[in-house]
Amino acid sequence: MVSMFKVRRWAAAAATVVLSAFGIVAAGQVPASAAPNFQVPFQCGVTVTAATFSGHRPANAVDFQKSGITGMPVIASAPGTVTRVANEGSTSYGRWIEIDHGSGWRTRYAHLSTQEVRVGQSVSLGTQIGKAGATGGVTGPHLHYEQNLNGVSQRVVLHGVAVPYYGKTNFTSRNACGGGGGNPYTPQQVCGSAFSVIDSAALGDAGTTYLLYDGSSGRNCVTTLKATSVGSPSPVSAFLEVEGSARATDSGDYSYYAGPVTKEAASTCVKWGGSVGSRSYTSPFEHCG
Ligand SMILES: [Zn+2]
Repeated sequence: MVSMFKVRRWAAAAATVVLSAFGIVAAGQVPASAAPNFQVPFQCGVTVTAATFSGHRPANAVDFQKSGITGMPVIASAPGTVTRVANEGSTSYGRWIEIDHGSGWRTRYAHLSTQEVRVGQSVSLGTQIGKAGATGGVTGPHLHYEQNLNGVSQRVVLHGVAVPYYGKTNFTSRNACGGGGGNPYTPQQVCGSAFSVIDSAALGDAGTTYLLYDGSSGRNCVTTLKATSVGSPSPVSAFLEVEGSARATDSGDYSYYAGPVTKEAASTCVKWGGSVGSRSYTSPFEHCG
């Protein structure tokens, strides 16, 4: 392993020297590093068609197609931090999201019908970020997807398999199918479709606690989704405390999640959080609007 590492280091350094000699590497630019193990941005087991075609902009982007794709959950294809949650209206990307995965790598997800994360939010592999749709400049519903390195669109690789250019190729998602993920539930499925995720906190690799809000009813909802021992009963909890009233908690040995814990909290600060096993999170009083 050590010698392999040295060889790779040497190769990377040599590549940088060669590129520098041609003046290609811009000052301050980070040399290319191994891409994250990007996964299909749909839930485990879902089969989608990855379409690539000349004239696509950018040329290396992939359009994921599937009948009935509108409303299907779109999930992060690697862990990262949300950098853009934008809406171009009826042009271009329409509703789109960008995630920064570190080392210069970012992914983009466009034409979404809903956006369910906020800028600065950290997401795990498999975290639902929105739903597929047909917003922006499209002729039909699909998910436009990009893997970019230092702002330049790269040929897309999904769970280690290079997407063919140009053509249509079916991929079945392995995204968060097991190990660190595999929870078949989404926060909205637990709390109800009227709710949107407004905050979340990762509990290491053990799971994630989510805070959701329904603007029409003024209600908050908290749920904790397990990412370990998924499908087997183990300790998990979720709580919600509206400032000035008692904390409501749901805890027990559950197979998939704790909650939903819901309370009316319009114009009132809330403290929220939860736990999986020994990992826990407690927020300050926040989201007071
Ligand atoms: Zn596209």
